Amino acid sequence: MLQLKITGITLLLGEDEGILKEKIASLLNIPCADIFSLEVVRRSIDARRKRAPRFIYSVKVSVPYNIDPTGKETVEMEVLPEEKKLPRSPIKVKPGKRPVVVGCGPAGLFAALLLSERGIPVLLVERGRKVTERLIDVQSFWEKGILKAESHVHFGEGGAGTFSDGKLTSRVKNPFTGWVKTTLVDAGAPSEILSDGKPHIGTDKLRDVVVNLREKMVKCGSEVRFESRVTELLIHRGKAEGIVVKNGEEIKTNHVILATGQSAVDTYGMLHEHGVHLEPKPFAMGLRVEHPQELIDGIQYGKWRGYPHLPPADYFLTAKLPDMNRSVYTFCMCPGGYIIGCSAEEGGVITNGMSLYKRDNRYANSAVVVNVRVEDFQDASFHPLSGFAFRRRWEEKAFVRAGKNYCAPAQRLVDFLRDREGDIPNPTSFSPGVKPARLRDVLPPYVADALQRGIVEFDRKMRGFITEDATLIGVETRTSSPVRIVRGPDGQSVSVAGLYPCGEGAGYAGGIISSALDGIRIATVIMSKK
Ligand SMILES: Cc1cc2nc3c(=O)[nH]c(=O)nc-3n(C[C@H](O)[C@H](O)[C@H](O)COP(=O)(O)OP(=O)(O)OC[C@H]3O[C@@H](n4cnc5c(N)ncnc54)[C@H](O)[C@@H]3O)c2cc1C
Repeated sequence: MLQLKITGITLLLGEDEGILKEKIASLLNIPCADIFSLEVVRRSIDARRKRAPRFIYSVKVSVPYNIDPTGKETVEMEVLPEEKKLPRSPIKVKPGKRPVVVGCGPAGLFAALLLSERGIPVLLVERGRKVTERLIDVQSFWEKGILKAESHVHFGEGGAGTFSDGKLTSRVKNPFTGWVKTTLVDAGAPSEILSDGKPHIGTDKLRDVVVNLREKMVKCGSEVRFESRVTELLIHRGKAEGIVVKNGEEIKTNHVILATGQSAVDTYGMLHEHGVHLEPKPFAMGLRVEHPQELIDGIQYGKWRGYPHLPPADYFLTAKLPDMNRSVYTFCMCPGGYIIGCSAEEGGVITNGMSLYKRDNRYANSAVVVNVRVEDFQDASFHPLSGFAFRRRWEEKAFVRAGKNYCAPAQRLVDFLRDREGDIPNPTSFSPGVKPARLRDVLPPYVADALQRGIVEFDRKMRGFITEDATLIGVETRTSSPVRIVRGPDGQSVSVAGLYPCGEGAGYAGGIISSALDGIRIATVIMSKK
């Protein structure tokens, strides 16, 4: 049986997927009946302006004989190699010394799940609450501005990704991406994520998915403890020997997988005090921009806007400013989504984006950010955690500027570009609410300057981006971690053996998929230990 991957088959708007088999048979010049299996591995939209949007497919087919793929110029064909398998586990865990995973975000969850499924039960400790309880806390923040220190958009079951768009795009090429996606589908994610070019789950579905992942892990013999913040790392002669949780309980282990995300500032402070080698790293910051979704659809799809098979349109824009040595780019675009308040510490305002599976809200939003270099925030003390203090400063300014009640400062896009104090901004999707403000006041000057120039450049690429109907809300600071916990090729901290820093907070990932993959990488390293 020959397995072929065929890329570049197109269907026009309105053409049914059912005709794919016929198209492939005619392309290969074989009868339809000889296509034994057909699997769509990728479906994307080509909506370049000025021509009708088309759907582009990549498919895997199996046929019972060899086929000469030459001469089929319109598509690409390749014979598929064997799939890479996840390793089985040779390590033996001493009774009472199961690996401890700290943090129940994508990195911790997938590390824990893989180990559990391979016969190594773990203890997963999470400072936040279970999804159902967390949801109540987050709603109360959005509705009344009451922030709970240990239960918010960043802390709790599922980590920072639970209240997200659930976009699963990643630039990382990794053979285990497929395993992550099938695991998510088995846990209740929509099956289209296996084939969509821009897969997304939506926060409403993600909330059930993370619970199902936890239950799967528990069925394999693992234990999950919520409201269990790790306050100390037990180290003896350069080796991790366990952790201490907030009630003072000591838990012994030889493997601490630390997947605490980028908002666990206290945890990084504790590591620094223990002499764990940390280094500052660049990140990006800026604002969120919101447009009516209809307007974005009109720009991207032109006269085909509103066609039933077309999803709400998205965009990705970049602008290089070589004279300033800065780049401006859009990030985490949420079509049909909401801008949400994501405060993680008292007295700070942070924005981010979220959407439901249907992406049917009337707004489109995206972060518009500028790269921040280490020299921008490092002072004479060269403190490795100075990035945290830097972003905190701007989050506090936003808090104060918007009335100290977790509303966010907002300005119409056109007013920001003209540096003009505006009146009441356009209605927005943001909760808990916005206050008109001059956004330049809550940004480092070079970020504000770069944004002003970059957005003008965006409008050249996507005419209509600058409009009276667009609103900017700030500040967007949690694009990625401003610190890295340095680890060696064996996945362990270079200063403490047995400590496995992992995921976004450790500086090795950014986004749901890459964090999950980093969790898998660490679990794999541990499993291959003799
Ligand atoms: C609103 C929002 C929307 C997003 N949208 C997307 C998107 O659409 N697509 C995408 O790819 N990415 C998105 N992201 C980013 C994505 O969520 C993160 O990149 C990802 O969650 C990082 O995974 P992680 O496991 O490394 O860390 P996290 O998800 O941050 O998880 C870390 C966990 O560790 C816990 N923890 C921290 N300290 C301790 C401690 N001392 N003891 C015990 N537990 C601790 C935290 O409570 C948290 O649950 C979004 C983020 C936000 C905030």
